[in-house]
Amino acid sequence: MENSNSNPNQIKNRSKPHAILVAHPLQGHLIPSVQLAIKLASNNFSITFINAENIHHQITLSNTTNHSHDDIFAEARRNSPSLDIDYMTVSDGLPVGFDRSLNHDQWVGATIHCFPAHVEVAVAKIVRSKPAVCCLIADSYSVWASKLAKKYGLFYVSFWTESAMVLDFYFHLHLLKEFGHIGPGSSGCKDAIIDYIPGISSIKRTDLTSYLQEEDLTTMAHQSIFPSIEDAKRAEFILANTVHELEAQPISAIQTQTPFYAIGPLFPIEFSTSPVATSLWAESDCITWLDSKPPGSVLYVSFGSYAHISKEELEEIANGIKLSGVNFLWVVRPDMVSSDDSDPLPIGFRDEVNGRGMIVTWTNQKAVLSHRATGGFLTHCGWNSTLESIWYEVPFLCFPLLTDQFTNRKLIVDDWKIGCNLCEEKPLKRMEVLQKIKDLMIGGKLGFELKDNIKRIKQLLENATKGSSEKNVHSFFEELNVAIEKKSLAC
Ligand code: UDP
Repeated sequence: MENSNSNPNQIKNRSKPHAILVAHPLQGHLIPSVQLAIKLASNNFSITFINAENIHHQITLSNTTNHSHDDIFAEARRNSPSLDIDYMTVSDGLPVGFDRSLNHDQWVGATIHCFPAHVEVAVAKIVRSKPAVCCLIADSYSVWASKLAKKYGLFYVSFWTESAMVLDFYFHLHLLKEFGHIGPGSSGCKDAIIDYIPGISSIKRTDLTSYLQEEDLTTMAHQSIFPSIEDAKRAEFILANTVHELEAQPISAIQTQTPFYAIGPLFPIEFSTSPVATSLWAESDCITWLDSKPPGSVLYVSFGSYAHISKEELEEIANGIKLSGVNFLWVVRPDMVSSDDSDPLPIGFRDEVNGRGMIVTWTNQKAVLSHRATGGFLTHCGWNSTLESIWYEVPFLCFPLLTDQFTNRKLIVDDWKIGCNLCEEKPLKRMEVLQKIKDLMIGGKLGFELKDNIKRIKQLLENATKGSSEKNVHSFFEELNVAIEKKSLAC
């Protein structure tokens, strides 16, 4: 939405609004939430940031260098004393050490039923002590936020951390149901083309999010997603980590229903390291190893923080990488197959690739992507990874596993043409892995095309940071101020 002629100085002169920002307790949601808090606080907002206790605990355990263990923003405030961000943690109702990855449904249940109760107690306390609190910013995957905001007389600002296209699907579930393309019996029309969603000219059913491709729409995940999207529709504002120029049509379609502001990409542009610790696993330093490799020679492999992969697929990928002979840096999370199997790589693999392969449990991804040695990214296509890899102009090899990653693949490969697929043949075979890695890393024409295209898409992102996204942030401030004034006149 580019709908304001706002003047940032005018905004600065007004009294400082206070927002409570609740981060959804997942790595891929926490990272942009922290950046949103910093962005708002840098624009004269006062923020109270609420993080889940277990997430805080895991960050603290993983981060041995940051000594501000009670407050992840302490160092950022030391660097920038005017940054007005308070920090607090609340429980999600489960013991801190409970294995949420292994017990996914129990965790989802806790985020629906217990986490909001703890958030409410915190919100009540903040509202009592800080009269300038005007809005509750919560992740769009929160089922509880609009009700809580209303109860405490706050505006609900919903924070969408994925592509606008995905939100557009979720906003038009009724159409997908009407056409029989989701829900019971819908897998019979696997090859269906969907051409009736406003803002999306045509898409295959297989490009919907994984949850929309399932027959059973009553799982715990669905019990969380569907009500949370209904709740996001009640928000006074939706802020999104996307860019108008990347997704103009789905954004316009959403804007016919709700005030939606594309303000991405939300990551620290100048620095590959943020002063706020957010990693849930200890970061291995890969820079010295990368320094020893020729420019563009290293394939970076990571499947994000959340999705699991089958042992069979992992073995095929490992063997394909081995056969390709390329240098690689692979993030193998301890729970990547299951926390019951903390070293799922084929026996002997580590020795066989010694020297040309580095395997770590977690790293600083932005530092890796920004390194000159990195030439390609074999990825699950998480939205943060997608934006980061575009930013550093690293082309993609796409292996989507879950949720929005299937839609992101479509955007990356079919629309923007900045990556290729590693998901056409099922089951995955090592020879396909080998061929696709060669195409990406060594493959002459294709490699050049992808690099050219990614430069163009990166430019859109870069322009947005000083153009449309910046303007949208200020539009949001303006509209929020108008809403606050209207409300105070009505009281
Ligand atoms: N990430 C990281 N180190 C790693 C792997 C991932 O810092 O070793 C970060 C990555 O930079 C991104 C986030 O974790 O910001 C993952 O988010 P994404 O949306 O890509 O995937 P998700 O984890 O939500 O599936």
